[in-house]
Amino acid sequence: MSTLHEKKWDACLRIIKDNIPLQAFKTWFSPIVPVKLEEDVLTIQVPSHFFYEWLEEHYIGLLKKVIKKELGPNGKLEYSIIMEKNISNSTPYTVKIPTSNRGSLRNPPVNVPLSANEQEIRNPFIIPGLKKVHVDSNLNPSYSFENFVEGDCNRLARSAGFAVANKPGGTAFNPLLIYGGVGLGKTHLAHAIGIGIKNQSPNKTVLYVGSEKFAHQFIDAIKNKTTNDFIHFYQMMDVLIIDDVQFFSGKEKTQDIFFHIFNHLHQNGKQIILTSDKPPVEMQGMEQRLLSRFKWGLSADLQSPDLETRIAILEKKMYGNGIDLPREVVEYLAYSINTNIREMEGALTSLLAQASLNKKAITLDLAKQMIDKFVKNTAREVSIEYIQKVVCDYFELPIEILKSKTRKREVVQARQIAMYFSKKMTKSSLANIGAHCGGKDHATVLHACRTVNNLSETDKQFKGYLEDLEKKLSIQ
Ligand code: ADP
Ligand code: MG
Repeated sequence: MSTLHEKKWDACLRIIKDNIPLQAFKTWFSPIVPVKLEEDVLTIQVPSHFFYEWLEEHYIGLLKKVIKKELGPNGKLEYSIIMEKNISNSTPYTVKIPTSNRGSLRNPPVNVPLSANEQEIRNPFIIPGLKKVHVDSNLNPSYSFENFVEGDCNRLARSAGFAVANKPGGTAFNPLLIYGGVGLGKTHLAHAIGIGIKNQSPNKTVLYVGSEKFAHQFIDAIKNKTTNDFIHFYQMMDVLIIDDVQFFSGKEKTQDIFFHIFNHLHQNGKQIILTSDKPPVEMQGMEQRLLSRFKWGLSADLQSPDLETRIAILEKKMYGNGIDLPREVVEYLAYSINTNIREMEGALTSLLAQASLNKKAITLDLAKQMIDKFVKNTAREVSIEYIQKVVCDYFELPIEILKSKTRKREVVQARQIAMYFSKKMTKSSLANIGAHCGGKDHATVLHACRTVNNLSETDKQFKGYLEDLEKKLSIQ
């Protein structure tokens, strides 16, 4: 014999079934269990918070009508949500949530404390119990704003990050997407924002997670049939920082799930911070709807730091570690490793290790030896532009003149040398090299290479130039 609440819910289901596609019915209504009916309030049990939100988002209108029809004008619906397992502590617990006032099925619970910046939240529920789950933020305390050197290369990203740290969810920079090449400080800045927020509001739930870890957790959740918990866990954050989102490329399911989490957080005024190695327009294999959301807030880039900033960064690191190095060594390090801050730090660390192992003072010579090795190990290709710059600096010519059509002797010679090194040190085609050097064709480049070879055999001074330049170029 079925009880009254079961009968009533069955009647509701019959109507619902006639009004939505069968698959949707199976997915969203079959799992629901009617629990009780008291004073026109029907309580139904749903498998997860996500499930509840989905119903609220997609079926609220239908539910409203059906409840009115079956329970009369005072009919109300209440959800009871089960969570089998919680991601952080596997103790089972149940949360009960009445329907939201959006659907006006029932008034929202009274006395839900809203703090000032949570006034805007559309969904008025703060789930009791969940807020108490302790989430380890995964923040590295040394990646703070104090340790992040400001320069032209990072000014916009840094100040946007600072604004976000002071008012998470309350600026136009949501999401804040920080992008830039390897080792330019994306991870550092992302942590700094998280640390800033935690310092000001220790009660905010902040989580830093690498995109790969996120993707792995998701796969595990699918395996263990705990995707709801997974989603729920992430939807609980006040601030979610996802590092290197480019790894989501091609992972459709992960993107889907992230899309839902993103929407939930964004709608509730929570802050999202993302980093990536490229701007949204260049991200391949990413769903359009995600990309368009990435563009909602602010995308700010980090560029390669200039020499002064590199020196300042090295000094900061040294200071932080209580190290003192001769100024010329610092300059040499900063000057020779100009692409990537991580490499520069790596060189500094090896230099210190070398010096302490061999009990030698850190001199410019030691630095040079070490860096030569270091740079060779990383074996990077120099660019044509860089070769042109080194050659021009050497002959004290402005770089534009090298790219012009001028036939002045000293310019022609410098240009030929630049072509010669470009052929020798890059994988560029002759045509490409020619295009970079005043729009010459491949035959001209070939001729230049021969001329330089010949001259170096006959002209001692010229040979000296080449040797100097080769040295400069190889410690790039
Ligand atoms: P990315 O995530 O862009 O690859 P990281 O954030 O890991 O780069 O930065 C690489 C290293 O460079 C880190 O040790 C970081 O502390 C340091 N770094 C980068 N930018 C700065 C900066 N502006 N000031 C101080 N240190 C920096
Ligand atoms: Mg990083």
